[in-house]
Amino acid sequence: MKTEPLTRGLRAGAGLPDLHQVAHIPDPWAALTTELKPPLTPDEARAEAYRCLLCGGPTTPAPCVQSCPSGIDIPNFVEAIARGDPTQAASTIMEANPLGGTCARVCPTEVLCEGSCVLIGEGQRALDIGRLQRFATDAVSDPAGIAIIAPMQQQNRNVAVIGAGPAGLACAAVLASLGYGVTVYDGHTEAGGLVRYAIAPYRQLIEPLPVEVERLRRMGIRFVMGTRIDIREAIQAVEASCDAIFLGVGMGKDSALGIEGSDLSGVWSSLPFIEAIKSRQLPEIGDTVAVIGAGNTAMDVARESVRLGAKHVVVIYRRSREQAPAFPSEIAEAIEEGVEFVWLTAPVRFLGGDRLRSIECQKMRLGEPDRSGRKRSEPIKGSEFELSVDTAILAIGQLPWSDLIPLIGVADANGYPILVDPDTGQTQKARYFTGGDVLNGGGSVVEAVRMGKIAADGIHRFLSTKE
Ligand SMILES: Cc1cc2nc3c(=O)[nH]c(=O)nc-3n(C[C@H](O)[C@H](O)[C@H](O)COP(=O)(O)OP(=O)(O)OC[C@H]3O[C@@H](n4cnc5c(N)ncnc54)[C@H](O)[C@@H]3O)c2cc1C
Repeated sequence: MKTEPLTRGLRAGAGLPDLHQVAHIPDPWAALTTELKPPLTPDEARAEAYRCLLCGGPTTPAPCVQSCPSGIDIPNFVEAIARGDPTQAASTIMEANPLGGTCARVCPTEVLCEGSCVLIGEGQRALDIGRLQRFATDAVSDPAGIAIIAPMQQQNRNVAVIGAGPAGLACAAVLASLGYGVTVYDGHTEAGGLVRYAIAPYRQLIEPLPVEVERLRRMGIRFVMGTRIDIREAIQAVEASCDAIFLGVGMGKDSALGIEGSDLSGVWSSLPFIEAIKSRQLPEIGDTVAVIGAGNTAMDVARESVRLGAKHVVVIYRRSREQAPAFPSEIAEAIEEGVEFVWLTAPVRFLGGDRLRSIECQKMRLGEPDRSGRKRSEPIKGSEFELSVDTAILAIGQLPWSDLIPLIGVADANGYPILVDPDTGQTQKARYFTGGDVLNGGGSVVEAVRMGKIAADGIHRFLSTKE
C-alpha cells in the first residue's frame, strides 16, 4: 500500500463511473421471479411456428439442429406446433433431451439454435425457438402426458449415476431407455443439480424440473437422494451394486479469493447467495453491492441484486470488458438494468468491523499473455482506493462439488477427471465414465445433457462388449 490515505467512497480521478440510482424495487420477490422470456400464447406460438422455413432434411440437418448440443429435431417440433399438435412437438423434444422444458428457459439460444437460424441471413429476426420449445413442453405439464416407450429389451445390467444434475439425468434417461437398471445418487434432497440451486430465478425458479424428474422416475429410474458418495465404503457399496458408473458430480463450490476480510459478515460467495434467493430466504444486502468477477454467474448475482432492491450494483473485474468471460449479451443486459462496471480493478482486502464496510481495491493494467493466452492483469503500484459497500459477492469461478474424482483414482493433478476416450466419456478406470461440468470445467445445461448422452452410449457399448 502507498502512504497516500485511502478515501471512502469513489475517489475522484480513479476513472470510475458515477453510480446512478437503480430504481426502487417495491416487491423484490416479484422482481426476482418475473420471467425474462414470458411464455407465448397459443396464437403467438402458431404464428411464430409459421415463420420457420423448415430447412434441412434427412441427410443434412438444419443449421439450428446442428447448433443444438442435445440434437433436438427443431424443424420437426416447430412444424408440429404449426399443425396445432404441441404434444407431438413435446415428444420430439423430450426424446432428444429429457430436460427439454428446462433448456427452453435457460439455454443461451442466441448463441446456439437461434444464432444459426437461416432467417437472420434473410435480414429477419431469428425464429424464437426457445419460446416455441417452452410452449410445447408446457403444454404437456402432466408427467404422464408424454408416452414412455418401453425399451426393446431388458439388459440385466445395472448402472449407477452419481450426481442428479443435467449430465446425470440425461445419462440415466438414455440408459433406462436402453433397458438398463439405473440408480441415481445425489447428496442434495432434490434432483436437478445447479438448475435447482443456481440458475437465476427470472429464467427458471424450479418448474418444470419436478415434472421432468418425475418422467424419469416413471421410466423406472431409481433415485437415492440426500446421499453423498464420497467415502471409500460408500464407493465400494456402489461398485458392488452395478456394472458401470457415471460420475456427473459437477462444479458446485465457489472458488475462494483468499484475501483479508473474506469472512466478514456481508461478504457472500455466489452460490449460497443464489441458493438463499431461490429458497426465498432473501439476503439483506443494503444499498450498495459489489460483485467480484465478470463471468455469467457474476452477471446473474448482479442482476439479482438489482431486483433485491440495491441502489448501486458495481461489478469489479481485474481485466477489461473484452476479456470478460460473460456472454456480451449478458453484460449488455446487466448494463441496461443499471449495473455499473469497474474494469481493470481488483479487490485487495475487505474492510470493516463485524460487518463489511468497504473494499480496498487496486487498479490493474494488462500485460503479456499468460499460459491460457489471455493477457495477464498486473497491479498498478500506488493506485489503491477504497470503495464503500454494504455487500460483496464473490463470483470468480467454481470448483468440483466433491473430492470423489481423486478418491476414485481417475483424477489429474488438479482433481479433474482424465479420459481415455473423449468420444465415450470413459475414464482410465474402465467401469467409470464421466461428463458435464466436472469434465468441461463449467458449461451450460444443454452441454451437460449432451455429455451425459455421449457417456450413456459409451457405457452401452462398453457393457455390450463385456462378458
Ligand atoms: C450461477 C449459475 C447460473 C447458471 N445459469 C445457467 C443458465 O442460465 N443456462 C445454462 O444453460 N447453464 C447455466 N449454468 C450452468 C449449468 O447450471 C451447469 O452447466 C449444469 O448444471 C452442469 O450440470 P452437471 O450435471 O454437470 O452438474 P451439476 O448441475 O452441478 O450437478 C451435479 C450434481 O452432483 C451432485 N454431487 C456432487 N458430488 C456428489 C457426491 N459425491 N455424491 C452424490 N452427489 C454428488 C450434486 O449434489 C449435484 O446435484 C449456471 C451455472 C451457475 C453456477
